[in-house]
Amino acid sequence: VTVRFARPTSLQAAFEELQDDDAHLLAGGVSVVLLMNLGLLQPGKLVSLAGVPGLRGITRSDDTIEIGALVTHDELARSAVLAAEVPAAADLFTRIGNIRVRCAGTLGGNLAHADPAQDPAALLAVLDAEAVVAGPDGERTVAVAALADGPFSVRLAEDEILTSVRVPVATDGARYSYIKFLSGSQDDYATVSVACRVALDDAGRIAGARLAAAAVGGTVVLLDEQARLLEGTAPDDEDAAAAFETAVRDAVDPAGDRRGSADYKRHMAGVVAGRAARAAATS
Ligand SMILES: Cc1cc2nc3c(=O)[nH]c(=O)nc-3n(C[C@H](O)[C@H](O)[C@H](O)COP(=O)(O)OP(=O)(O)OC[C@H]3O[C@@H](n4cnc5c(N)ncnc54)[C@H](O)[C@@H]3O)c2cc1C
Repeated sequence: VTVRFARPTSLQAAFEELQDDDAHLLAGGVSVVLLMNLGLLQPGKLVSLAGVPGLRGITRSDDTIEIGALVTHDELARSAVLAAEVPAAADLFTRIGNIRVRCAGTLGGNLAHADPAQDPAALLAVLDAEAVVAGPDGERTVAVAALADGPFSVRLAEDEILTSVRVPVATDGARYSYIKFLSGSQDDYATVSVACRVALDDAGRIAGARLAAAAVGGTVVLLDEQARLLEGTAPDDEDAAAAFETAVRDAVDPAGDRRGSADYKRHMAGVVAGRAARAAATS
């Protein structure tokens, strides 16, 4: 089998390379190369983004952090801007896979690969982040929470390229947490993970809460309805926490695998959601 390789040096040239039916986009290659080696992906042409300018920076403006699609997990883990504005996000990127995966894997590739057990999408969902998507006909934005429409499937056309992710900077003092629960080794994908956003009122009660979970469904599962059970309660209110954890357990539908049975993961989704809410409220 012969695979052609294209290394366009502009977005426009990349769109043109992607017009071939057998073309497939390549970012860090972490997932693409594995899938090709397993015979699950058989592109006739790889279109590398490595030579396309403008996809690598992390830029802070007044109300947004914009992250280029080719920014690696390791760069995000080391980003002073991210650590200052959303420490939970900087921490999340230190916990992806292993150092080789973090140094090669990119944020754009991670979101486009859309493995439901991956980490960034859940936290980006509660952050209300948007993906910027460019195509031959122009640019559009998609909420990161709505990017995936199933396991390993995203709402992107074959010739569209995710160019950046825009993360709004919270203005209401909201706090964030991301809890990745692992039942195996520390460098594994999550067994269950939960991202939480909490805003407290002047009395220290929860004024607003949002929740998203990974590895418990075909895509990131938004659990804002369940998070609303925490509103008006104190972060250490054990009755409210118990009702909230039960509601989360009832709302998720994980698949059993080598990391645990479906029942175990459902139970842990409740436990981890409780931990995530407390961690956000006390961060
Ligand atoms: C051993 C191992 C452990 C891992 N552990 C974790 C983990 O714990 N948590 C986690 O979140 N992830 C984990 N990952 C996945 C990792 O985050 C990958 O980096 C990511 O899935 C793919 O990024 P990439 O840049 O290498 O993309 P590639 O492999 O190059 O591309 C992946 C897919 O995205 C498409 N694509 C890439 N860039 C774009 C773009 N800009 N626009 C549109 N489509 C694009 C490609 O066409 C391809 O279909 C792990 C992977 C491995 C191999």
